[in-house]
Amino acid sequence: MIPGSFDYHAPGTLKEAIDLLGKHPDDAKVLSGGQSLLPLLKLRLGSAGHLVDIGKIPGLEYIKEEGGFLKIGGRTREAAVEHSDLVRKKYPLLADTTEVIADPLVRNLATVGGNLAHGDPANDHPATMLAYGAEVVATGPKGARTIPIDKFFTGLFETALAPDEILTEIRIPTPPPKSGGAYVKLERKVGDFATAAAAAQITLAANGTIEKVGIGLTNAGPTPIKATAAEQSLKGKKPDADAIAAASKLAAQATSPSADRRGSVEYKKEMARVLTARALAKAVARAQGA
Ligand SMILES: Cc1cc2nc3c(=O)[nH]c(=O)nc-3n(C[C@H](O)[C@H](O)[C@H](O)COP(=O)(O)OP(=O)(O)OC[C@H]3O[C@@H](n4cnc5c(N)ncnc54)[C@H](O)[C@@H]3O)c2cc1C
Repeated sequence: MIPGSFDYHAPGTLKEAIDLLGKHPDDAKVLSGGQSLLPLLKLRLGSAGHLVDIGKIPGLEYIKEEGGFLKIGGRTREAAVEHSDLVRKKYPLLADTTEVIADPLVRNLATVGGNLAHGDPANDHPATMLAYGAEVVATGPKGARTIPIDKFFTGLFETALAPDEILTEIRIPTPPPKSGGAYVKLERKVGDFATAAAAAQITLAANGTIEKVGIGLTNAGPTPIKATAAEQSLKGKKPDADAIAAASKLAAQATSPSADRRGSVEYKKEMARVLTARALAKAVARAQGA
């Protein structure tokens, strides 16, 4: 299908882009990699009078460690994350996640910022960022503000970004020693959205118990889910099979998936439990080897 007509803008600075968004608050959309937005427009599931392409704005594509965070520029592509030695070495949860997003063609264009800003509970990065306890930087007419990721996803395809704000950076706290993370996804075929998926990030104390834990769930409800009761249940515990089994049950209880072609509600809840257990076990093994 052919999308409805729109004006295309390609500003060269962040300020110009924000001004354009401010001028058309009701019908302007940021265009980043276009891998979610363009299909929506083509299928006429969405419309926009103005597309503000942020691809020509310099300085929005980077991956670097600074001030205790891994900082990812808002327009950094999945392929850059996938091929980053730093990410592979120190952020295995993020590396796991990027590798299972779509296919190489999509990953060459799709951006991490777009993956989060889209607010799709089926996207993979939201759960991972919830598990990491990340934050995002939103830049608008009044400057930049930081939004904790657990306050970012406000509804189905809705986020805390104002219409004239651009997601300019993602900040993942650099994990201390004895940390590990993993993302485990069930998909019908390679490149598909998740039937269900779980992200786990763990830090062990000197005595081997769990000091810090984050768990995020993909496609398990109308918004990405942070499994807080499951996290609480693990704190201070030895990371053994019983603790993981109990936490995984709590994670499944926190889900409210819908039935669709990927499975029934019961099946998806059960998959959330199984995948949480697998992600936790892998995260623990990685933390123990760290
Ligand atoms: C075939 C296919 C398979 C896919 N499979 C997966 C998958 O398995 N897992 C997965 O997670 N995703 C998957 N996706 C979705 C896609 O990877 C993400 O949604 C994509 O990364 C979005 O990023 P983008 O840069 O392409 O955003 P765009 O499509 O350009 O934008 C998406 C939305 O976010 C807004 N936006 C984008 N960037 C910003 C910004 N910096 N600031 C403010 N708003 C912004 C746009 O206005 C728009 O509303 C798939 C897509 C395709 C086409």
